[in-house]
Amino acid sequence: MSNLELDPREIRCAAGEEAGGEVLEGREVPLGGPRAMAVSRTLPGAHRRMIGAWCFVDAYGPQTATMRVPPHPHTGLQTVSWLVAGEVLHRDSLGTLQEIRPGQLNLMTAGRGISHSEESPETLLHGVQLWVALPGGHRHVEPGFEHHASLPVLSGPGFEATVMMGSLGGVTSPATAYSPLVGAEIAVDGACEVPVEPGFEHGLLLLDGEVAELAAGPLVYLPPGRSAVRLSGRGRVLLIGGEPFGEEIVMWWNFVGRTHDEIVAYRKEWMEGEGFGSVEGFDGEPLPAPVLPGTRLKPRGRVR
Ligand code: MN
Repeated sequence: MSNLELDPREIRCAAGEEAGGEVLEGREVPLGGPRAMAVSRTLPGAHRRMIGAWCFVDAYGPQTATMRVPPHPHTGLQTVSWLVAGEVLHRDSLGTLQEIRPGQLNLMTAGRGISHSEESPETLLHGVQLWVALPGGHRHVEPGFEHHASLPVLSGPGFEATVMMGSLGGVTSPATAYSPLVGAEIAVDGACEVPVEPGFEHGLLLLDGEVAELAAGPLVYLPPGRSAVRLSGRGRVLLIGGEPFGEEIVMWWNFVGRTHDEIVAYRKEWMEGEGFGSVEGFDGEPLPAPVLPGTRLKPRGRVR
């Protein structure tokens, strides 16, 4: 995935109404050790690294599995956990113990540093794990955790959109956001036009059902300049978007920073057991950080 050029196998034009969109194929990544779940990672991709401030999109399931992600650190980002099916238990270094169910939001703001674990019983799991990069002015905020059991809904002919992050069509999520963005689950029933911010770029991911132009798996990227997203069919679609992120970031393992040296320092602190607190109650050892690459990590913009 180090090809600097556009790869036509990974990025092709979507046909039909959403012409001009790019199709970002996911790659399969094992998550959570020996009894690993397979996840499909569509961001960051070889070419497109971010959509708005969204910098990471993992989708998993539906599959019967046991999620088991031991304690690990984060910096400079928010994790957005969203389930279509199943249940996941979150623990973090702030002392939070919170179960999440479908339709609820777990939002963890890493800021200057936090650690957490995620686990589930063996069950049908289906959901997404998303990261939002914090802009420079907020990336060192105090860590925090929010659980939102109910979220506002934007309704229109043929759709109901649950707004988990940011705003959509004047409906705003209560979740804390640090840049202009949107994250929503859109239930499509028929043909619909979902109003969106023309200044935002967007991504669409089919969660279930059949929605025209959206295949199961890939993320469809839509550039700025549209006032509505047209969808038709019957199913659920994840919509993410935001103002194109103006900063270059360094993403490595679970850290978002701005420089190679910052990442090296985060890694050292984690391995030395400093700066990220500890997660109580998880049955198992924290995850060790991988070895850094032999070359310096380069800051990257929204595309490369
Ligand atoms: Mn995590």
